[in-house]
Amino acid sequence: MRTALDVNGLSYRYSDGTAALDDLHFQVQESECVGLIGPNGAGKSTLLLHLNGVLPETLARTATLSVFGEPLVEANLRSIRRQVGLLFQDPDDQLFCPTVYEDVAFGPKQLGLDPAEIVPRVLAEVGLVGFESRSPSRMSHGEKRRACLAGVLACDPAILVLDEPSSDLDPRGRRELIALLRRLPITKIIASHDLELVVELCSRVLVLDRGKIVADGPTTEILNDEPLMLAHGLERPHILRHSHPH
Ligand code: ADP
Repeated sequence: MRTALDVNGLSYRYSDGTAALDDLHFQVQESECVGLIGPNGAGKSTLLLHLNGVLPETLARTATLSVFGEPLVEANLRSIRRQVGLLFQDPDDQLFCPTVYEDVAFGPKQLGLDPAEIVPRVLAEVGLVGFESRSPSRMSHGEKRRACLAGVLACDPAILVLDEPSSDLDPRGRRELIALLRRLPITKIIASHDLELVVELCSRVLVLDRGKIVADGPTTEILNDEPLMLAHGLERPHILRHSHPH
């Protein structure tokens, strides 16, 4: 099995001095689905923004992260962005075209792919058939999020990186999202406060707190560790309450 992501000594400080990531080390194997959990301000979004080179703003000569063996340096930025599909936390940061169709078609067009074949397929995957000519600005948050996901899937990424994908979804939308993600065989990294979603989708979890990885292991083991969870502003999810820790 190939290593999809190799993070080796990644630290990051925002320009105002805030230390957001502190010497992270971990690997993700191809086809793994890894949950990223931790309290607000732990550094989850900052980490995800590094995975396809949105951050840091200036790339160092020696990379502290690589994607399928390619170090994240300037020369590889295009190729890495091609492989890592990032769903932002706020859909309004991602949608910028007048219609859903144009938005979802944008990525494939940039890549020289044929949107006529791809757009209907991904809109069907996310449950947005019939929304082609709708304006994203007049859609619900949940619908916008699905449009963003369609746009990411349209580029056929090898690694899907999702920041809080279930926030603002109604229960049916959330169930459909979980089912959709489960069907996708690609490598996934999912930052979420929705621990039940994490239990359902992720076999492994990283716990981040104050920019450090404080735990990395099998999901049920970590989420059942009540002292660990409480120490990092989390709680044991209901879905695991009926089973005893082992
Ligand atoms: P999480 O996603 O786990 O809530 P973030 O990655 O958003 O955490 O934030 C990590 C730390 O970086 C926090 O202390 C946060 O206040 C800070 N931070 C986030 N974005 C910025 C920014 N644009 N400028 C300065 N500090 C930021």
